[in-house]
Amino acid sequence: MIQAILNYQQIDQKLYKLERELASCDERKEYVKLKKYMENAEEKLDSLETKAAALKAEAIELSKHYLSAEETLKEFEHLDELIAGGADIAFYKKKAQAIMDQMRKIRADMTALTKNIEETSAEYQDLKAKVIENQKKYVEAKAKYKDAKDARADEKAAIEADLAEAAKGVDEGLLNLYLTKRKEKLFPVVGQLNDKRCPFCSMDVPIASQSALSGGGTIECEHCHHIIYQ
Ligand SMILES: [Zn+2]
Repeated sequence: MIQAILNYQQIDQKLYKLERELASCDERKEYVKLKKYMENAEEKLDSLETKAAALKAEAIELSKHYLSAEETLKEFEHLDELIAGGADIAFYKKKAQAIMDQMRKIRADMTALTKNIEETSAEYQDLKAKVIENQKKYVEAKAKYKDAKDARADEKAAIEADLAEAAKGVDEGLLNLYLTKRKEKLFPVVGQLNDKRCPFCSMDVPIASQSALSGGGTIECEHCHHIIYQ
């Protein structure tokens, strides 16, 4: 029973090595780098779009304030009549001054806002151009990585055929456990007990578990989760 899984693991070693080589090849590195860049850039473009929309809304709000201040000033067109009618000129002077100040403040805010909008738009355009430029590179890198994988597809298929054959002799429950751990990128998955310790992490195996081992079974290390046999 143990021999069958060890045999399986020995063949699997080749597949593991092949996977590791593909995972660390330059083609994949380039592909992953560009993929990350594209994802980050898309996120950044989205946030710039959100910012631009917020700035536009702010600009609309400011022009509304400006128009309403202008509207208020119109009340002063008939100031002559008001004063002739005995109104307090000092009061109106003060009021007009306050509105003028307010309008000056709005104009300054508008200038700052316009600058911000222009900068945001420039940043967006700049990034958009870079994204378009990198899109081509990304597609190329993706194709190159696929080529690198394809170049080893036959080799991989041959190993997988050997594994399928070897799997026939392995206890189903043990094989499934092995495959689960393999997916978690543990390798080697199975190892022999070493002086009552886990061969992978060197932690002591509890006495209670040792009886399962002496019966020819396997246990899972509580610490590193590898499969242990005796
Ligand atoms: Zn362990």
